[in-house]
Amino acid sequence: AELARRIDALLRTVPDYPEPGVLFRDIMPLLADPDAFAEVVATFATDVPGPVDLVAGMEARGFLLAAPVAIALGAGVVPVRKAGKLPGPVATQSYALEYGSAAVEIQPSTIPDGARVLVIDDVLATGGTAAATVELLETCGATVVGLAFLVELEALGGRAMLPGRFVDSLLTLP
Ligand code: IMP
Repeated sequence: AELARRIDALLRTVPDYPEPGVLFRDIMPLLADPDAFAEVVATFATDVPGPVDLVAGMEARGFLLAAPVAIALGAGVVPVRKAGKLPGPVATQSYALEYGSAAVEIQPSTIPDGARVLVIDDVLATGGTAAATVELLETCGATVVGLAFLVELEALGGRAMLPGRFVDSLLTLP
């Protein structure tokens, strides 16, 4: 609860970004605070439900969290990128957006069969990105041991997209 308050105090809420009507939670002030950043990384690393071989971070802010958490766990990093950013061979998973669709990609050659993977991102909103990432990793033979987010936007219902999964959010906003 103390850490949640600290994260809350360091978030910047930006109305109408990146589009009119969206209330964007900006985590950059938190990353720029050395103590808060270190505490967030240590908390993600302690909260994990079991051994982890790889930490998968979603483009782009997930990368900034996944790398230090991976070091803390003695794990490697897998970047989950938007379509077209990684040299092949890649595996792709598409998912629906409010208007249109998007896709995430990884290099399956970096995922040993049965690798235990923790998925990390800054914000859980509708859960579309996280659910597609889980699907993608498991299609490639990984075992997703859980997902971790700095902020969960509860009203958007993302958790329901991850049924039965271990979901760690350090701050839940209504
Ligand atoms: P979802 O797929 O709707 O859950 O959206 C999650 C993705 O969009 C994550 O990769 C987030 O980084 C990004 N995102 C959605 N809303 C916010 C926000 O308010 N602040 C920062 N990132 C957000």
